This record gives sequence, structure tokens and C-alpha cells, in this order.
Amino acid sequence: FNKMWGMESHDLLQTPTILPPKTVDPPKIMLGQEAMEQANCSPDILRCTMTKIPENNNLLQKSRLPLGVLIHPFRDLSHLPVIQCNVIVRCRACRTYINPFVLFVDSKRWKCNLCYRVNELPEEFQYDPVTKTYGDPSRRPEIKSSTLEYIAPAEYMLRPPQPAVYLYLLDVSRLAVESGYLGIMCDILQDELENIPGDARTQIGFVAYDSALHFYALPEDASRPHEMTVLDIDEVFLPTPDNLLVNLKDKMEMVKELLQQLPTRYANTYDSNSALGAALQAAFKLMGATGGRVTVFQASLPNVGPGALVAREDPTTRGHTQVDTQLLNPANDFYKRLALECSGQQIAVDLFVVNSTYVDIATISGISRFSGGCIHHFPLLRPNNMTMKDGFSRSFRRYLTRKIGFEAVMRIRCTRGLAIHSFHGNFFVRSTDLLSLPNINPDAGFGMQVSIEDNLSDVQTVCFQAALLYTSSKGERRIRVHTLCLPVTSTLQDVIHSADQECVVGLLAKMAVDRSMQANVSDAREAFINVAIDILSSYKMSLNMSGPSSGLLAPTCLKLLPLYISAIMKHTAFRIGIPTRIDDRVMAMIEMKTKPLYLLMQMIYPDLYQVHNLENQQIIMNSEEEPISLPPKLQLSARWLDSKGVFLLDAGDHMVMLVCQNASAAFLSDVFEVPSYAQMPDDLYDIPSLDNLRNQRLRHFVCYLNEDKPYPAPVHVIRDNSSNRALFYQHLVEDRMENALSYHEFLQHLKTQVK
Ligand SMILES: [Zn+2]
Repeated sequence: FNKMWGMESHDLLQTPTILPPKTVDPPKIMLGQEAMEQANCSPDILRCTMTKIPENNNLLQKSRLPLGVLIHPFRDLSHLPVIQCNVIVRCRACRTYINPFVLFVDSKRWKCNLCYRVNELPEEFQYDPVTKTYGDPSRRPEIKSSTLEYIAPAEYMLRPPQPAVYLYLLDVSRLAVESGYLGIMCDILQDELENIPGDARTQIGFVAYDSALHFYALPEDASRPHEMTVLDIDEVFLPTPDNLLVNLKDKMEMVKELLQQLPTRYANTYDSNSALGAALQAAFKLMGATGGRVTVFQASLPNVGPGALVAREDPTTRGHTQVDTQLLNPANDFYKRLALECSGQQIAVDLFVVNSTYVDIATISGISRFSGGCIHHFPLLRPNNMTMKDGFSRSFRRYLTRKIGFEAVMRIRCTRGLAIHSFHGNFFVRSTDLLSLPNINPDAGFGMQVSIEDNLSDVQTVCFQAALLYTSSKGERRIRVHTLCLPVTSTLQDVIHSADQECVVGLLAKMAVDRSMQANVSDAREAFINVAIDILSSYKMSLNMSGPSSGLLAPTCLKLLPLYISAIMKHTAFRIGIPTRIDDRVMAMIEMKTKPLYLLMQMIYPDLYQVHNLENQQIIMNSEEEPISLPPKLQLSARWLDSKGVFLLDAGDHMVMLVCQNASAAFLSDVFEVPSYAQMPDDLYDIPSLDNLRNQRLRHFVCYLNEDKPYPAPVHVIRDNSSNRALFYQHLVEDRMENALSYHEFLQHLKTQVK
């Protein structure tokens, strides 16, 4: 009986193979009514750490589970109902949007499911435009779908919708030129100029900076771009009021010409200074009137002018077991303050960090964190670093062409009795539940912690509703609304068995970043371990099994929690005792705070497959209905490797393929066109496209893995005896590592602590 309901126990110490061979599905939310269950929000968009909400805080505390929601509000969707109406139906008391979980008192009135006020239905809502009849409001799209988008009427704008405005700030210091980013970036931008979201009003501009600021005017009457250098970086001013931001359509040819000139313009520079702060101040002056998106490419430590920094990191301490908390926090508040000013003018700043030395990401990231921007990191980018070049190109191409919302705000409402108390992600909190987002992009994730303030025992369900108001790149004001409904329960058993382990880990990761910055990384690590101990102890209590026992029991829904926690403690963000550059650590922490859950899980626990015998694997269909050979997922341990094998590890933004020394000659020849292992090159940066089944099968599988990602991950193929092999082995997080327990040792430690 228990097994049927997913309520059986697993003795983790007796179950070394715990990972399901296929995807870990999010737990299903049971509302008892099929129509409501079908209408509920997709877990890809809005997800709670538990699928049944405890009826009071005491019960929540007993479960030891964290309560919170993770949201990916602007993700790309294949189907989205769009509604244009004169009146958007909202509760008069709490402003909740009408949704599938409201109660219709009669055909003219509805009861709000967040504050319980009874509201009148407008005449328009009772009319069904399809059948042209009155009287059944439940047929409306607002009642059938939890995710939809309204085209907003005039009262939802403070000013006419802003045009799409894009400004590029280019570090052209010596280190920047050595990285080679400028050539790649200019090529891709030229390539995609016509595909950037926008309309006839779209504007674009460029500012380069080293010791000085270099502005590029693109005037009407001139035939070529006109460079103006401003040497005074302490009192930034614009050298001309016009033609620095220009209409893209009108000036397309001149923009292209500038993009051709830029890569060579600074090729021979010896200027090692980088006036990032001054460049950002200039951007603020340029964009203040319209708002928009600033894209910064940074390669050096900003070392001159406003916001200048000094190298704080002592490289000799990188492997220490104590991480200096100060280095995780900003050295000054210049970037945060400027970000708040930008936020006020609807300007978001995005960072592409392409550094080979310390640039103090902890400090400069403030410009993006508080302006609703995003941050990408390509350490050690060099013309000959193929993996980074490839990753940078793919990521930047996606960045340019993905959709974008301007001048956005997001509000999260929840049923009376619940309260949202901490937010995670890049934004500025304007009032208790209103997030200011100068830009919203489809790859941004957010998290919120939730507390139970009042008893919920008199209600059956609770709801969370997120509303994202933004201006589209076509100048339309829109509101995207997501509503999630969850049942309430009164028993500890129910609460524990309703846990969503991936969502729990996703929320814990965000909380651990805050803990690391406020206290230290060791504290955050201890908190992870304590969460595992507490949850498993509370489970044991719910089974009425106190006292010592031989095993370590976990319910089905939490059986992967210890595996994920042991993995996350080996992640760049939280590991200790292994040499870790502080910029890499800070960046990993930023990703923990801002990646949507499905990408976060792949960072924490990448997917490992054996790919040398795809012909023997199960066949599934991809989204195009093409057959794909799908091998089972393997746990991240060397015990699955064998010398005849070829293994593919998918870490989300990159893949590593390990070719072992006794891999079959037929496989090597069919897939890589090499006669033997000895003739495999040290590194390969792609799988060649060859005309045979084995090669096609593998390439199709890689494409399939890339289907749901923001951009396709590059594949790096390495030989098992290559000097790069650590790139693969470092991901085998279940094994014992320097200063880190194996998964099995971790379980044994938990067992001694679980009471
Ligand atoms: Zn209400």
C-alpha cells in the first residue's frame, strides 16, 4: 500500500544506486479535481518546495523542510494564451488576477482565492466570444490556464512604452585585447544585427574604455563613425549630445562598419587601465531618458577613475579551508549605488566577464545584481582556448537574439496566512513584494522564502500568483501571470511525503549563498549538513522510530537529498580545501542565486551517460518526433567507468566526453574518423559530422540533450590519458576527493547524527 502511494522508505546505506535512470520528475500536485489539476501552473515555471502546505507554522517547523517557491517567470513557452480585453478582472481588495482557482459564487460573482473577498464579474467576462453566449465564466481562458498574458490597457503605463535601446560598453585594455573577445563579439553582433528584438524605433550605441572613454558618434551627414576620446574620467561628460545612441535601422551600414573597425582599432594597445566606473556613469547619462539594456564586456580589474578597485585576493590562500568572507562581499558600494540609480531610470546592466586575472566579480557584479541584469563568466578566454571561445560565442548569440522585456516589475502574491520574506535573484526590491526589473530576460530564475503566519486549517488550498508587467520589444505593455495552487494538510507524514527534493536543494543553494556572505562558507556547509540531518531525523520521528537503528531511512520523495547535498558541497561555490579562484567562487554563487532550477540541478549534479553502445539503448522520440537512443543516467562515480567505454557528461553549459583507452576501434573510426586510441587528438572540440549510423546516433543524442537549454552546450572530447582529464574527473562528485567525503562516507556521517 505504502509503495503504491510513493510512501515507502529507502535505507540509503543499502541503496548505493539511488539515481533514477531517467529524469527526476517533479512531484504531482493533487488537488482532488481534475480540472484544477490540469489548469495548475507548470513546475517548469513555478514550483514550491512542498506539494502540500502544512496548516500551521508548528507543523512546518516539525518537518524541518524549508518553505519557498522558485520561479522562472519569463521562460520561452511554446504555447501562451494572450488575452486582449477592455477590463482585466482583478480582486478589488488584493488586486489578484482572476485565475482557475477562484470560486464562482454565482454567474455574476467570484470569491478571491487569496483574500476571500467576493467580487462582481464584469459583463464582458460572462460573454463567451466563441459560442456567443452569456453565463458560463468557467469557459474563459483566464479560468482554464494558470499561465497567460494580458495586453495591458493604458492605465498600466506611467509613460508611453519605451523603445528597445542597447548600449555596448567595451573594455579595450591590454588584457581585453589579449582575450580576443572583441573580434568574436563584433562578428556575432554583425551577424545578428537584424535579429535583435525591437522595431523601427530600436536604438544602439557603443563606448570603449581603457584609461579614457572612447565615444562613437554615428552622425547623419558623415560617411564613417566618428571617434571622440574623453580623457577626464573623474568628471564624466558626454562629448556630444547627439548621435551616440542612434536608430539601428537608419544607421545599419555605419554600425556594421564600426563593428568591422573595432577589433583592429585597439590591436596594438599597451594601455593596461580600465575605467569601468566612468564608462558606466557615461552609460547612465546616455540612457537616463529612455532606459534600456547596457552590455559590458570586462577583462581587467577596473583600476582607474570612479569605482577603481585594487586586487584583494591573495592567490596563496586559494586552497585554504577558511574562505575569507570579505572577499565574497563588495569592496565598495560604488557599483551597487550606481545600479540603484540605473534601476530608477529603467536601465539594466549585463556583464560578460572575460578575465584571465582577478577582476573582483564580488564588487563589480553589484551593477547587474541590483539592476535586474545578468552576469556571464568566461574565465581564461583566449584566441586558442577553444572551449571558452565556443561557450562565449554561443552564449552571446543567445543573449542577442532571445526575447527581452523592458521597464518591468514583478509582484508575487500569496494566500492570506502565508508571507513571502526573502527574495533571491537579480532585482531591486521596491516595496515588500514588488521587484523592480529594468529588464527581464527568459533565462532568469528567482526564489522566495515563505513563512506561515496564520493558521490555515480552515482552508483546503493556498495559492501563489506571480504577475510580471513589462514592455515588449515591439512597444507593447504586457502582463504575464502565473498561478500555482497547493493543497493544505494537517499531518507531518503528508508534509514530509510531499517534499520536492530538487526544489528544496534549489532553495537551500540560494540560502547558503546568503549564509556564506553574511557569515562564512564553513557555516553554509554546516547548514547543508544540518538540514539533511534534521529532515531525516524528522522523518524517523514521523515513522515513530526513535532510538538507534541500523539503517538511514529516507522517503521516496527525499531519497536524493543527501546525494545532492553531498554534491553541492563539492561545487565551486561551497567547496573548501581545493584551490579555487575567488572570482570563480563568487560567480558560482551568483549562478546559484539566478539560474532557473533545471539548469541549477545540472550544475550541481551533472548528467552522466555511457555513449559507446547507443545502438543497444531504449529509443524515445524527441520534440520533432525523431528517434533518439537514450542511455540510462549514471551516478557520478568512477565505479561506472570501464576502459572500453566512452562517457558523456552534461553539465548544462558544457559537455565533456571521456574516451577510455580500450574503446573499440570501430567506434573511434565511425564517430571520430581516427583509426585508434593512440591517434585520438588530445582534445577535440566537436563531434565531426560523418555519414554513418553510429556517428549520427551520437550527434542526435547530443542535440537532444541540448534541446531545452538556452544555448547548445559545446562538447569537449578528451582522451583518458590526456593532461585535461581532470575536466571530466572533477565532476565525479560521489567519489572521495581531497578534503571531501565520498557520498557513502557522507551517509555514514549522517547516520551517526540522525536521532
Ligand atoms: Zn483578493
